[in-house]
Amino acid sequence: VDNNQLAHRLSALVGDAHVLTDPALKASYETDFTGRFTGRSRLVVRPADTEQVAGIVGLCRAEGIPLVPQGGNTGLVGASVPTGTEIVLSLGRLTEIGPVDEAARQVTVGAGVPLAEVQRRVRPYGLAFGVDLAARDSATIGGMIATNAGGERVVRYGTTRANVAGLEAVLPDGSVLSRLTGLPKDNTGYDLTGLLVGSEGTLAVLTRARLRLVPIQPRRVTALLALPSIEQAITALTAVRALESLELAEFFLPEGLSLVMAQTGLPAPFGAEYPVYLLVECAGRQDPTEELAEVLDDADILDMAVAVQASDRHRLAAYRDRHTESINAEGIPLKLDVTLPLDEVAGFVRDLPDLLPKRVRPILFGHLAEGNLHVNLLDVASSDEDAVSETVLRRVAAAGGSISAEHGIGRAKAHYLSLSRSPAEIAAMRAVKAALDPTGILSPGTLLP
Ligand SMILES: Cc1cc2nc3c(=O)[nH]c(=O)nc-3n(C[C@H](O)[C@H](O)[C@H](O)COP(=O)(O)OP(=O)(O)OC[C@H]3O[C@@H](n4cnc5c(N)ncnc54)[C@H](O)[C@@H]3O)c2cc1C
Repeated sequence: VDNNQLAHRLSALVGDAHVLTDPALKASYETDFTGRFTGRSRLVVRPADTEQVAGIVGLCRAEGIPLVPQGGNTGLVGASVPTGTEIVLSLGRLTEIGPVDEAARQVTVGAGVPLAEVQRRVRPYGLAFGVDLAARDSATIGGMIATNAGGERVVRYGTTRANVAGLEAVLPDGSVLSRLTGLPKDNTGYDLTGLLVGSEGTLAVLTRARLRLVPIQPRRVTALLALPSIEQAITALTAVRALESLELAEFFLPEGLSLVMAQTGLPAPFGAEYPVYLLVECAGRQDPTEELAEVLDDADILDMAVAVQASDRHRLAAYRDRHTESINAEGIPLKLDVTLPLDEVAGFVRDLPDLLPKRVRPILFGHLAEGNLHVNLLDVASSDEDAVSETVLRRVAAAGGSISAEHGIGRAKAHYLSLSRSPAEIAAMRAVKAALDPTGILSPGTLLP
């Protein structure tokens, strides 16, 4: 089918207003958040419900037209944008939110609901979704599940995987798979929900999700610690991990802090610059300030700022939260997102500059409790990108780490998958892909090159 025929047939399914063929209207769906990944799509289609998604997928399967599912387009590995031959299947209109089940602590939501909207809807019940990340206003539940997003609360609540009780999804043959009862015990064969979490749009289009919710902890304390070294930051982290109330442990370095201050106008948090900063937050039914102070008593802390009021806590958190936007304002970074065993983190941070061409500026920050480092490299010449990525990722793999902690493999890391996965694992993944999507219409080039 040519584009006009395709647009005509899709319009019959979703209505004219929701098939975009005008280049100006398609543009925002064709470039990712970082500006690094961009491509052309045949058209953008915006279904309103599961039935329409099934109709679109069935049509694409019959005609052999590849498609790329897209939520909020905040993904960071180039998997949410097309490369030229695909249509973009935007799930942004799947915004239905079901009743909050207070007894089960669950809610069913459409794949296109932004994270912040879920939080707003469940807050009056004293509940929250346990995963939180800075892209909360745009990132959708479908995108978060497709990438198994991590974020800042993993130390307490786990990744998205741990917070999803069931899914509804459209398979590449157009059939609908639905497991939304959210039963906490259900051993009836393969865990298909688990399989689709983290599948990056390559196995199915997610349409609805049954989410687990957690009780909001009303009393909070946030502390920004200045420390002499990564090793001492890990010692402080080990101490605060004794607390059940620990909800967040994020680190950043002086280069990142300077950039955030320059880009945002935030004042310096301390009178001097320090080698490492660790932001921790504890939350409980009782005020956790005292227990936090107690466990940090022996830590080698050079300076510390503590906040209990929400506005003060947000002010401290901003030094960490505003890293991504500040780096992007400085230039398009080469982004790597890796996990290292905790005892390898300091060595990696120390060695990194020597692995890079001289003019490259590394800005590191991340989720210290998981050894998850966001390695942002500014001023990498485009001709050096592949060599730099490979060198850094090989160093991570050699240290027993993972080449993708939470952003996924996407298109950006597909060539490096074998650094973190064995030939047997990749063969099993290919077998699953071939079984569910034999003609390869879903997100070609993503995850499995
Ligand atoms: C400022 C900022 C901060 C971030 N912080 C974090 C963080 O702390 N932790 C973290 O893990 N990530 C973080 N991210 C990236 C994170 O992956 C995304 O924010 C989010 O998980 C993706 O949601 P999305 O709706 O934007 O998905 P998109 O970007 O639209 O898509 C991402 C992937 O999911 C697929 N997909 C999307 N929707 C569906 C669907 N309904 N069915 C099937 N496949 C689908 C796409 O095809 C693509 O492969 C951050 C991003 C930004 C911009």
